[in-house]
Amino acid sequence: MRIGKLWSVGLAALLALGTSALAQGGGGDHRGPTSGAKSGGELQVYFVDVEGGQSTLFVAPGGESLLVDTGSAGGTARDATRIAALCKLAGVAKIDNLVVTHYHSDHVGGLPQLVGMVPVGRFIDHGVNREGVEVQGGAPTVAGWNAYQKVLGDGHAEHLTVKPGDLLPVKAMKVEVVSADGEVIAKPLAAGGERNAACAASPLKDAEGTENDRSVGMVITFGKLRILDLGDLTWNKERGLMCPVDKLGKMDVYIVSHHGLINSGSPALVDAIAPRLAIMDNGPRKGGAPTTFETIEGSSRLKDLWQLHTAEGSDAKHNVAESHIANLAGPDAGNYLKMTARMDGSLSMTNGRTGETVEYAAP
Ligand SMILES: [Zn+2]
Repeated sequence: MRIGKLWSVGLAALLALGTSALAQGGGGDHRGPTSGAKSGGELQVYFVDVEGGQSTLFVAPGGESLLVDTGSAGGTARDATRIAALCKLAGVAKIDNLVVTHYHSDHVGGLPQLVGMVPVGRFIDHGVNREGVEVQGGAPTVAGWNAYQKVLGDGHAEHLTVKPGDLLPVKAMKVEVVSADGEVIAKPLAAGGERNAACAASPLKDAEGTENDRSVGMVITFGKLRILDLGDLTWNKERGLMCPVDKLGKMDVYIVSHHGLINSGSPALVDAIAPRLAIMDNGPRKGGAPTTFETIEGSSRLKDLWQLHTAEGSDAKHNVAESHIANLAGPDAGNYLKMTARMDGSLSMTNGRTGETVEYAAP
């Protein structure tokens, strides 16, 4: 597609560009009509700072893109603007697949503003909203759902409702749905199936009964790498995935559930998946609970935890080193984190605030 675009500027101009320019993709102004990222054999994952919501952009080799959630709405379109800026940085001219994990406003709120900035090929979700205005905090959920339905009603994109066990129609990665609409997979994945010794350390908590319970959860496999994103799936719903048998198996990367709040991320989950890296999409005063830090940092294979923000409600002992935090306390520049993942299992993490990159060898 890139060559086709270049042809449109004429043969003479093409020849004038020379072969080296062509090999480099001709620069950022020559992106094709769909996702045009050039990422070699690497999966690029951008963790957008949406201030305690979620928005995670996956860009596979060849440019196929998957966005998980859209942050919050706002008069300044802060979150949609940040997501669109990272799409531009990543060379994504069209979001091929947009997963809405659930209908809370910190996940679906930015969607109507975002679709005005970056076109979307397909929306994916768990089906109807089941959280009404009678639930505490339900009014913004209903508003977010209604705004999303209006976008779907415009009919410019495909729409897919998924259930546990489904595979997303993504070509460059394997994306397995493990939870949706309050249900979880009935049988273990190929990598799972062991009895989980950590279940005893995860007594049940009070049921939540909100959209969090209904989050679309996904296991993303790229070569040897396995990445877990459960949205805001709650502690009790984790048990259905993890107890008494771990249905998921070991993960390389854990996108910390629910911003690191205490009602998700049980030892039954975290000890069993034993991630090598964890990335927490917390806000300055949302998520990043002390017990969440202790659970993650106590897991057996962890090399590093990264945070989008300093968790200002936790102390220095619980926050990671500043080099691994994208946004420190004080003026907020909305810095991102970026992960580069390779099929052999090696990884790197880049802090958008400092530009520094840390490499992690394949296990
Ligand atoms: Zn959330």
